[in-house]
Amino acid sequence: MNTLFLRRLTLILIGVAIILVLGIAVRSVVLKFKAPIAVETPIIVDVNGDSVTPVIPGNSEDTDNTEVDEVVVDETEKEVKVEHPIPPVTETETETEVEVEMKPQPELLNYKTVSFFMDSRMERYKAYALDNPTFSVEEIVMKVNMNLDYDFYTHIVEIEVPDDLLVLCNKFYQLPSDFTPQNLEKVPAEYHVNDGKAYDLDRDALNAFIDMSDHAKEEGISLKIISAYRSNEFQAYLYNKYKANNGEKNADRYSARPGHSEHETGLAIDINDVSQAFENTKAFKWLQENAHKYGYILRYPQNMENITGYMYEPWHYRYIGVETATDVRSKSITFDAYYAMNILSYKNR
Ligand SMILES: [Zn+2]
Repeated sequence: MNTLFLRRLTLILIGVAIILVLGIAVRSVVLKFKAPIAVETPIIVDVNGDSVTPVIPGNSEDTDNTEVDEVVVDETEKEVKVEHPIPPVTETETETEVEVEMKPQPELLNYKTVSFFMDSRMERYKAYALDNPTFSVEEIVMKVNMNLDYDFYTHIVEIEVPDDLLVLCNKFYQLPSDFTPQNLEKVPAEYHVNDGKAYDLDRDALNAFIDMSDHAKEEGISLKIISAYRSNEFQAYLYNKYKANNGEKNADRYSARPGHSEHETGLAIDINDVSQAFENTKAFKWLQENAHKYGYILRYPQNMENITGYMYEPWHYRYIGVETATDVRSKSITFDAYYAMNILSYKNR
């Protein structure tokens, strides 16, 4: 019995010894791996998006440091890191995005969505869009159709059908030097100023003026022609006289070079008084309200010099027929713009 008891006691003691040894070994291993995890340095992101490493008091390179639970990290920095992470988008990137929206690539603009687009002018649309990045697609097509990507009196084209009612004669379109309108008629004396001169005008334009003048008279308004058809030679004489007196730059603002004057078409007239003062007369106000009803439009309106090439001329009217005159007036556009949108593109299809 005693021998059996001693054997069992020995086995129990050996077991206890093994458990103790294992326990010590496990504890030392656990302590060895716990320390480096606890001292890991927190990464803090500041408001500018840069990573910074905070200086923590009491921290050291010693991985066996067991005092990590007592390290105090600044609360503000902690908040920035945990609750308000700053997305890594910089201001520069935002500006680039806006810039891309404001300056679309001319190649990507869909010019063909504009009804008066012309395939033959595609390269000019692209070039003009590059120079004018804020313009809409419609604006680009319209201005290039008006040749406003060119300087006045450059790239001049000779007018093919000078007798057309809707002929466009301006600083880009020139009448043949030997052109004389087919249907010129003498203006009756009572419809022009009494200066001893004779005036000729296109027959339809004259009849419309007579009708207009008669109706104005009924309302106490006097309308008299002071300039009508001019020959190429006479226009050359006038322009050269103005140029000699005022210089080419000034003359070009109010006088057309020969072949470029609407007066040579027989479809344009000056009324009553060739001066800016005409704007303040009852006759001008009446024309503003009624000229289109007789097929006439104010051809060189105020603030349109960059389009028409001429300063404001309250006295100069162009006959284009009632329907077109009404359309041009209702849209408050120049005849140059009307031509660019409604005539040119259809002629060239
Ligand atoms: Zn005129």
